[in-house]
Amino acid sequence: MTRPLHERTPLLESRPLSAALGQRVLLKLEALQPVGSFKIRGIGALAQQLVAGGARRLVSSSGGNAGLAAAYAGRMLGVETLVVVPSTTPLAMRARIAAEGARVVEHGSAWDEAHAFALGLAREAGSAYVHPFDDPRIWRGHATLVEELAEQCARPGLLVVAVGGGGLLCGILEGLECAGWGELPVLAVETEGAASCARSLAAGQLVELDAIRTIAVTLGAKRVAQKVLEWSARRPIESLVVSDRSALDALERFAADHRLLVEPACAAALAPVYERAPALRDRGPVLVVVCGGAGVSLELVREWRERVG
Ligand SMILES: *Cc1c(COP(=O)(O)O)cnc(C)c1O
Repeated sequence: MTRPLHERTPLLESRPLSAALGQRVLLKLEALQPVGSFKIRGIGALAQQLVAGGARRLVSSSGGNAGLAAAYAGRMLGVETLVVVPSTTPLAMRARIAAEGARVVEHGSAWDEAHAFALGLAREAGSAYVHPFDDPRIWRGHATLVEELAEQCARPGLLVVAVGGGGLLCGILEGLECAGWGELPVLAVETEGAASCARSLAAGQLVELDAIRTIAVTLGAKRVAQKVLEWSARRPIESLVVSDRSALDALERFAADHRLLVEPACAAALAPVYERAPALRDRGPVLVVVCGGAGVSLELVREWRERVG
């Protein structure tokens, strides 16, 4: 088998977060992946399969970490990569994607429009589409995170993970089942303005949000993958919604505690630890997936602080 494009990441026991929660807290440091997030696991695996199947051009529709991972994968695999981004994609992220050698094309004002346009381009001969989260090959790639965990620690009491479109969550649930940890409770965390998973789980069916209103833009999928609901019919998925301010507070505390700057999307999963959320009471050891994210800078943190107060 060819070598995967992701790295094996450290698992560490956090003294400061354990002290904050009053229970052992373990961190899976996906922020240390190349391109700064877990995304390279699933997107990298999918890209490898597409290129092995003859694709000579990858087309992505994400102006976020999935697009960045696709660009990195394309460069590592020696194929052209085209990333269609909506007009909302910040210049800094476009620059990061372009720095990986990908071509960045703007289309539409929201992800749905970029997605539809990218799908059309991917139908050209030799091209293949790399969805940001809704593909079983991506989930299989994300599941490698749990394969590593099973070698790095004993079964924790609770796993905490941020949810956007649900790709990471689906990958983790698949990985847990494969590792024989299918009973491990999982807490899915979102911010208030992007609570598509919480809403869908509560309704027992896919709920589409009409708007995304959060600084955790990476969690801003209007609806989650159908697969999330399929999983919830098979096993419990606990859900928690935190405020933007909680996520930002956690982001700043985490930077101070571990010298790691992560996106609000990632900090959302750290917020319940710092806030001693009731959902975490007597659940230790608590394992948090520090999913990372490249869409952050000191300047952005200052802007977010002004916005959320
Ligand atoms: C993509 C991403 C998420 C959400 O992952 P989904 O698979 O869309 O649920 C959370 N945090 C970061 C940093 C991400 O890049």
